[in-house]
Amino acid sequence: MKILVIGSGGREHALAWKIAQSERIQVVYVAPGNGGTQLDPRLVNVAIDDPVALAEFVQSEHIALTVVGPETPLAAGIVNVFRDRGLKIFGPTREAAQLESSKDFAKAFMQRHAIPTAKSQTFSDVAAAHAYIDQNGAPIVIKADGLAAGKGVVVAMSLDEAHRAVDMMLSYNKLGDAGARVVIEEFLAGEEASFIVMVDGKNILPLATSQDHKRLKDHDDGPNTGGMGAYSPAPIVTPALHARVMREIIDPTVQGMAKDGIPFSGFLYAGLMIDDQGNPKTLEFNCRMGDPETQPILARLKSDLLSVMEHAVNGTLDSVELEWDRRTALGVVMAAAGYPDAPRKGDVISGIPAEASDCVTFHAGTTMVEGKLKTSGGRVLCVVGLGDSVKMAQKVVYDAVDKIHFDGAQYRGDIGWRAIKHHGH
Ligand code: ATP
Repeated sequence: MKILVIGSGGREHALAWKIAQSERIQVVYVAPGNGGTQLDPRLVNVAIDDPVALAEFVQSEHIALTVVGPETPLAAGIVNVFRDRGLKIFGPTREAAQLESSKDFAKAFMQRHAIPTAKSQTFSDVAAAHAYIDQNGAPIVIKADGLAAGKGVVVAMSLDEAHRAVDMMLSYNKLGDAGARVVIEEFLAGEEASFIVMVDGKNILPLATSQDHKRLKDHDDGPNTGGMGAYSPAPIVTPALHARVMREIIDPTVQGMAKDGIPFSGFLYAGLMIDDQGNPKTLEFNCRMGDPETQPILARLKSDLLSVMEHAVNGTLDSVELEWDRRTALGVVMAAAGYPDAPRKGDVISGIPAEASDCVTFHAGTTMVEGKLKTSGGRVLCVVGLGDSVKMAQKVVYDAVDKIHFDGAQYRGDIGWRAIKHHGH
């Protein structure tokens, strides 16, 4: 069987790597893929990114099923294009992807369906936005309505910072259309966790829990990034909290979307803030898996992902039970010099250890140039280690990271610290 994975990051390398483990797989195409997917003999890169051209490729190659990694093609309606041609694709339609592509849509949806989230209001008028900030005080959170590649959220600790964020988005148009409306939101304190499920329109299949590390530097210092590391499971999500999130957030979201006439299928990712008392609120929805959460999550998945995907596109996820490796998987992102502002490209990468039963390296910003593997983007690699405890997984992963070299590599040395804080090992 032939499968297509769309995207070029570490998330897509992990999806393709896992799907390719199925015995029934003939080839997994990755569009456009990266240096790592090019090096794997079971994967084939295809240099196509236009949705219609991709659909034509799927038809001509008789590809059985397509999985979409990133949000941009989903928000642009790639699922609509494929479905119109009767092609099987796992992901939400353009309309359902609004849960991620419009924060105003997501907030209005959550209010309508009584899903716990921060209190907020949406503005396109500059004066009204400033007045709302003055009324509510700081800290306060300013969010661009549209997709802004992680740059659209300002957690303002002072009134001054909040007013500047509004001016940046509404007056100076720094984020273009994405910032033409802003959601101004109550600041929530607590600890974040990623809650990712698969949805086939009505049935829900939760994946293992995980936690991301957004800041560039150790001790959660430095600027926000796409994510510098993640681990699974996340001990803060106890079985009781898991049941509560399903009941209060995930079930009502999936039912609410169906009730509103825009049933959701695809990966649904709720970014949670869990307060000191253990109460969860929804910070945001994503309509795809997280990167880097996908890498440790899939490193723990024992079930055949191809068969899970088939159930997902056929609406039979209720018959699937996932099997997980009991070990902790911990992923450490190695980023290029200059990331996140101006990542340098073209550094030669060496020393990536061969895949082992407790360690695998997923590529993101890598490319093959005349037989040499070189950096080609901000986040370059995500090295995943597995161990019986978080500390043991850390040992495996950092031993591997120590062997890998490229000039200017940046990575955190403390991925997993929150899990150690909760469990002590
Ligand atoms: P992503 O790149 O994860 O998709 P995004 O740009 O869609 O992010 P959010 O996830 O909504 O934006 O916010 C980014 C980060 O800002 C969150 O991970 C969280 O740390 C912080 N944040 C967002 N909303 C709030 C809030 N109401 N209170 C406190 N912190 C918040």
